[in-house]
Amino acid sequence: MNTRHFQFWPKRVPKSLTVPKTTIYHNLEVSAKRYLDKTAIYYYGTEISYQQFVDEVNRMAGFLENRLGVSKGERVLLFMQNSPQFMISFYAILRANAVAVPINPMNITEELQFYIQDCETKVAIVGQELYDRIAPLKHTTPLKDVIVAAYSDYVSGDPGYDLPEEVKMPRLTFDDPFVTPWMNALSCNLLPGPLTAQSDDIAVLPYTSGTTGKPKGCIHTHATVQSNIAGACVWSGITPNAVVLTVLPLFHVTGMQHSMNAPIFAGSSMLLLTRWNRATAAEVIQRHGCTHWTNISTMVVDFLSNPNLSNYNLETLSVVGGGGAPLPEAVGERLFQLTGIRYTEGYGLTETISQTHFNPADRPKLQCLGIPSFDVDSRIIDPETLRELGPGEEGEVIVHGPQVFKGYWNRPEETARAFLSLDGKRFFRTGDIAKYDEEGYYFMVDRVKRMINASGFKVWPTEVESILYKHPAIQQACVIGVPDEKRGETVKAFVVLHEKDRGKVTEQEIIEWSKNHMASYKYPRIVQFKERLPVSGSGKILWRKLQEEELAGSKQA
Ligand code: AMP
Repeated sequence: MNTRHFQFWPKRVPKSLTVPKTTIYHNLEVSAKRYLDKTAIYYYGTEISYQQFVDEVNRMAGFLENRLGVSKGERVLLFMQNSPQFMISFYAILRANAVAVPINPMNITEELQFYIQDCETKVAIVGQELYDRIAPLKHTTPLKDVIVAAYSDYVSGDPGYDLPEEVKMPRLTFDDPFVTPWMNALSCNLLPGPLTAQSDDIAVLPYTSGTTGKPKGCIHTHATVQSNIAGACVWSGITPNAVVLTVLPLFHVTGMQHSMNAPIFAGSSMLLLTRWNRATAAEVIQRHGCTHWTNISTMVVDFLSNPNLSNYNLETLSVVGGGGAPLPEAVGERLFQLTGIRYTEGYGLTETISQTHFNPADRPKLQCLGIPSFDVDSRIIDPETLRELGPGEEGEVIVHGPQVFKGYWNRPEETARAFLSLDGKRFFRTGDIAKYDEEGYYFMVDRVKRMINASGFKVWPTEVESILYKHPAIQQACVIGVPDEKRGETVKAFVVLHEKDRGKVTEQEIIEWSKNHMASYKYPRIVQFKERLPVSGSGKILWRKLQEEELAGSKQA
């Protein structure tokens, strides 16, 4: 353990946690035994008790096992918005001893095809509004069965505040043997066989992209996930009395851990929203007395700019924090002035199933990643020489801890590249450049990896470029991140057209084409044509040069 970070460790907080050697499903089972009638999920005016939750999880697991033949270790795709069905499916997949593969509901058909083929999914559970995107894949991929869920099945009346379109949508009917409606699956009343999954079995396979341009599944076991859930509960003080505002997307690790798994572990209530809406958030915080809210900085910015915010009583709120992207210092200050709450930022990656660093609630710093979490050994190294660096020195963050993933699914070479050995321990290379101060708090400086952070959604330029190259008029493309007031960063593409197409294709046409060929958070919002791109002696496009020129230009402006 790198002990120097512990000299400023918060009082009364242990440096190491004993993590249960049970499965994630056991957390729900235990909470349901303790708090049977308590509301686990509030969803647009409807309440789901822990008893109903665990009962439906078991019936869905029974259906997956007995009707669809889902077996131990099999990957099941979860392709839906935040909804009771997302949570029930996640725990049902684990109850069936299988592996949950949650993916971004913004994915389009081509992207879905990749996930299904990469982890050989036979079964998918899908929101009905997304069904059309997965339907074309029934003959071209290993996919055999799809369970389709209508979120409106869990809304029994008018909550008195805005209902998102997909929640209003009545249940659709499907005349196709490929599809089982959610309610039909539940009403089979089938029960699953024994729970045989062990702590070291794979539980979740969340995807992250990367330098190769193709998303990679991160292998997380029950143990890696459990260690992080326990850490999240202690850091954020999530107890049975907590009422958690669950509005971060659950397919992503921060939402999955802080807004779903941790509250279920603690036996808290969750106030679940399918879509972010600042007025609805303020309304439900007041109505249900929310105590905890984990978010992404863009949500806080939007929340605080609500002109009617002072009409709401937000007194119950005590913990507001987040990660995935920095919260601008001025926004943290404004939050403090309005609510008296100090924002607690955290840092982590899909590979670490959320936080490895966290700001202690009693001594948070602003625009700071925090100090290393429980049982985490974190160092800063020179990314070239791999030499360990000291306080104030900028270098790559490496982490060793119980939440670190086991490797990338079916990618031994990329797995090997992601780790290094130091002091006899296996450290994960994060690809982020940071430094820590004399008190052991980490601060982000830059990235080694080519990644764009647009409102917390990670865009990998190589992936976008490989799609752009499919456009018949594009000869060369280079994608960079540029500063954006709302999204933090946004995606810009420099494009060289084939000579014959110059003057015939417009930049706007490339943007429109991109919209239809990739998920909406990825497509370039800005396209600039160039006659040529800067290249190195070996012919590599010098993206950093373009990035630096762009930043210099935006500073001058
Ligand atoms: P993901 O795998 O989507 O969770 O993205 C992980 C990446 O998000 C990290 O490698 C960082 O680049 C970025 N990130 C996470 N937390 C923060 C934070 N608090 N501030 C700035 N960037 C962050």
